[in-house]
Amino acid sequence: MLSKLALNCDALNKVLEGREIPKEEAYEIFNISQYESAEIFETAKILRNKNHGNVVTFSKKAFFNLVNLCRDTCTYCTYKADPGESKLSMMSIKDVQNLAKLAKKHQCVEALFVTGERPEERFELARSWLKENGFANTVEYLVFASEIALAEGLFPHTNAGNLTKHELKELKKSNVSMGLMIENVSERLTEKEMPHHLAPSKYPKERLKVLENAGQLGIPMTTGVLVGIGETPFEVIDSIYAIKEIHKKYGNIQEIILQNFHPKPDTIMKEHPSAEENYFKTMVALTRIIMPEMNLQIPPNLSPTSYERFLSVGINDWGGISPLTPDYVNPEFSWPEIKTIEVNSQNAGYELKCRYPVYPEFFSMVESSLVEKMSEINDGTNLVGENYWR
Ligand code: SF4
Repeated sequence: MLSKLALNCDALNKVLEGREIPKEEAYEIFNISQYESAEIFETAKILRNKNHGNVVTFSKKAFFNLVNLCRDTCTYCTYKADPGESKLSMMSIKDVQNLAKLAKKHQCVEALFVTGERPEERFELARSWLKENGFANTVEYLVFASEIALAEGLFPHTNAGNLTKHELKELKKSNVSMGLMIENVSERLTEKEMPHHLAPSKYPKERLKVLENAGQLGIPMTTGVLVGIGETPFEVIDSIYAIKEIHKKYGNIQEIILQNFHPKPDTIMKEHPSAEENYFKTMVALTRIIMPEMNLQIPPNLSPTSYERFLSVGINDWGGISPLTPDYVNPEFSWPEIKTIEVNSQNAGYELKCRYPVYPEFFSMVESSLVEKMSEINDGTNLVGENYWR
């Protein structure tokens, strides 16, 4: 065990000196974390503070659950609905306009547009709904809805699954950034009886291709890993390195979300345990160690009694928090009040600031007309002015 600890220190010292560690050393750090995690957490904290100071950010958002029909089935997902279910959401143009107005009234900044994966490929209901509203497909509607939000003074960020390069290009005109969780790059998780078996859009090659295309188009992308769905720790590490690879090539990954799995009662994985907190913390700390400068987020509503403790293992963002709409992906976990997050962040030694859906250092990738619009509420550092969001 002594020699293992020594090796661990070498790898951690290397990171603290600003050097990158190869994947094998990250595996080794995970192995050591089984015996000794304090040093790993401390290293992550030092790196976090060095790169992001005493600031933690969030995005004040409204969640537009545009359509939650989905052609795929991930066995952990409670977001998707089938026709006739009470949770089915199909927002009309009027619904989008009304929510955009209400969000502006609440001084939200982000319009988060979420849909299931290409609903029209599987459901006649989706095809006729799109036709009634005057659209040939979901992406056409997303473009239109994004323009409505933009006209109201919100800044769109779309998360609609595997978009083609052409679709990404169209959405880039009105979206300041976009999102696509990689979930995990393990092919094993697509095998029979595994979470992504019935979700071809979650096949790692397909997923990575979208991030590559977004990179070629210069789109700031939020991505992330779902932790606790039956993966091995090494598969999480592989996923972070795959994201790192894309970021090295294109420089367009603005943020990594680490999301801890919780079972949902109406899903196939309802008996699967939640991600264990120490394991989740280790994965957060390792991500910081692998990518010291990256923006790292955990959703505070998924760790309601302990989220502030993640500030000391590497995170620097709370993601989108909505004062008016639920988290439709995790409906059983409501978002904490922004004021409460602020107080808890302050007690942990960090100052809460509001960002746009796009992080300050990625403004140069955004269409100039959108940057100009953002300048109306900009605090001068590409964050949102305090007098706007408070
Ligand atoms: S996680 Fe996304 S792709 Fe998977 S079933 Fe749910 S909505 Fe569809």
